[in-house]
Amino acid sequence: MKSPLTPPHRLLLGPGPSPVEPSVLRAMTKPVLGHLDPEFIRIMDQTAERLRQVFRTRNRLTFPIPGTGSAGMEAAVVNILEPGDSIVVGVNGVFGARMADAATRAGAAVTTVEAPWGAIIDAEELGKVAREQNAKAVAVVQAETSTGAHTPVELIRREIGPGPLLIVDSVTGLGGVPLEVDKWGIDVCFSATQMCLSVPPGLAPITFSSRALQVVADRTMPVQSWYFDVSMIRQYWEDGEASRSYHHTAPISMIYGLWEGLRLVLEEGLEERWNRHREVGEFLQGELADMGFDLFAAEDYRLPQLTSARLPPGVKDDLRQVLLNDMDIEIGGGLGEYAGKIWRIGLMGFGARKENALRLIQALRAVM
Ligand code: PLP
Repeated sequence: MKSPLTPPHRLLLGPGPSPVEPSVLRAMTKPVLGHLDPEFIRIMDQTAERLRQVFRTRNRLTFPIPGTGSAGMEAAVVNILEPGDSIVVGVNGVFGARMADAATRAGAAVTTVEAPWGAIIDAEELGKVAREQNAKAVAVVQAETSTGAHTPVELIRREIGPGPLLIVDSVTGLGGVPLEVDKWGIDVCFSATQMCLSVPPGLAPITFSSRALQVVADRTMPVQSWYFDVSMIRQYWEDGEASRSYHHTAPISMIYGLWEGLRLVLEEGLEERWNRHREVGEFLQGELADMGFDLFAAEDYRLPQLTSARLPPGVKDDLRQVLLNDMDIEIGGGLGEYAGKIWRIGLMGFGARKENALRLIQALRAVM
């Protein structure tokens, strides 16, 4: 009862959360302000502006929703879809399937275009199905964390044409691989703080295009979720700075952390950060291949920040526990039918450093 909390120091090289930048943790210990304090509103506005830069968008409604990445997914789906609306969802792993499930729960008529785990969605097929279904929206996962596959979102927009709204899950993408919300014609894009932004889990950055907001404004039924209804949340952002009204209590300390995390992203430079992830990810993937691991995601479509690899013969999944308990290194196992068959290694944000890749490789050589 009397001893303070002392969690161990782990090197987080799993599929999230990633290691947190020390200055982010320091920012989170700053004095808590009231959420309608003009000083806090200024911090909130700066956070939104930094998010616009990182999402590469001019969308006015760009903000962090309280909750983890799933809150972003939920908000995207429940605002855009009404019962009976048609949506086509690309499913090539756990998170595409989740988005299809969320859309089904919102009452939409969901058609999935599937690809084997590790492969990417066939953009041409997605376009064909979207036209056949006269889809209101198409949804894809840019960075499938369950497999390490990197779906080229730009190509998806080209193939589906300008008609459907495009919803993109970039939970593991934002800050790690190129993402161009405006240039690629993305209407709703959501992410999470705990991946390539290196901020603890707890917020889901999200952005809505003006076309998406028009769709929300034209709904015949109110959004079923009170908390995630952006037609109310947008009021906060559209009120003048001095007259911001209450919708929910902002999670102040998390916003401080995101503010600092985004400052670091922009200080490093987005392109530089993408390049750092690419270089470190390719280094790890080369080393793993040399050690006999079979890289799981399709060649040319591998995420640098999330590497998935089949275990070599004779190597047991239990070794992950040895890494964790004896070496304080966390990596992830496979999900679904790939549990026990693949490992998932994240080199994300602050964690995307060659010394971390080397520490893992040395540890693996020692235990295997
Ligand atoms: N989408 C993707 C691609 C993810 O990787 C995750 C989590 O890992 C989620 C959605 C859900 O995010 P969270 O676990 O933060 O709710």
